[in-house]
Amino acid sequence: EQVVELSGVVKRYGNFTAVEPMNLAVEAGAFVTLLGPSGCGKTTTLRMVAGLAAPSAGDILIKGARVNDVPIHKRNLGIVFQNYALFPHKTVFDNVAFGLKYRKAAKAQIAERVSRALDLVQLPQMADRFPNQLSGGQQQRIALARAIVVEPDVLLLDEPLSALDANLREGMRVELKKIQHQLGITTIFVTHDQSEALAMSDKIIVMNQGRIEQEGSPEDVYTRP
Ligand code: ADP
Ligand code: ADP
Repeated sequence: EQVVELSGVVKRYGNFTAVEPMNLAVEAGAFVTLLGPSGCGKTTTLRMVAGLAAPSAGDILIKGARVNDVPIHKRNLGIVFQNYALFPHKTVFDNVAFGLKYRKAAKAQIAERVSRALDLVQLPQMADRFPNQLSGGQQQRIALARAIVVEPDVLLLDEPLSALDANLREGMRVELKKIQHQLGITTIFVTHDQSEALAMSDKIIVMNQGRIEQEGSPEDVYTRP
């Protein structure tokens, strides 16, 4: 089953083409990484999948529906960016609960699901803290909890680890991959870091100057001459 499908997707900014006609299919439960140097079009691609930018041409389907035909409040996506930006005046609980409240989930269900998400990111005791009372790594884990708590169709991660220091980044790789695998959640991950891509991905899409240069399993991508 293909959860995400891009066909002939193009993004132009004026005369400049940031993404050349691109085709991509992401299978249910897969962890797919867009890898490439700064400026190659990774974020632009991810933003289009998120429905935050409209393609200049082509179609993006999530579970068979065109992203831009689905109203924003009905899109079931989990998004974590590099500058994870938690709501500073909300507690951890309310940050994580945000998407569920927005969807008008029942209070008991909110409490149960938030607590499960906080367990998953191994911060069960932090519900009443505010973001500025947490370390960077803890904030990043809360951002992940906030994204997964709604059981999204797709988890979209844009360099979510790059603001962390090197040690923490390695630990978080393992943790993030474990959570993704445990939940079986279809994930698109953006990074310029080869070792991250290698450690985490089922499939790597190598991008360069708006084009897919190569794609395959980490073994395929790294052992080809
Ligand atoms: P990456 O995520 O791989 O670093 P981006 O997708 O952010 O690359 O950017 C791809 C190209 O598109 C870059 O050359 C960037 O400068 C350009 N670009 C991105 N957003 C805009 C925009 N809003 N207006 C004009 N050019 C943009
Ligand atoms: P609202 O946003 O509707 O004013 P709150 O954000 O204060 O309400 O809380 C919404 C619900 O989540 C309430 O039922 C509240 O008891 C529950 N809640 C808030 N914080 C926690 C927490 N740390 N642990 C468990 N439940 C909580």
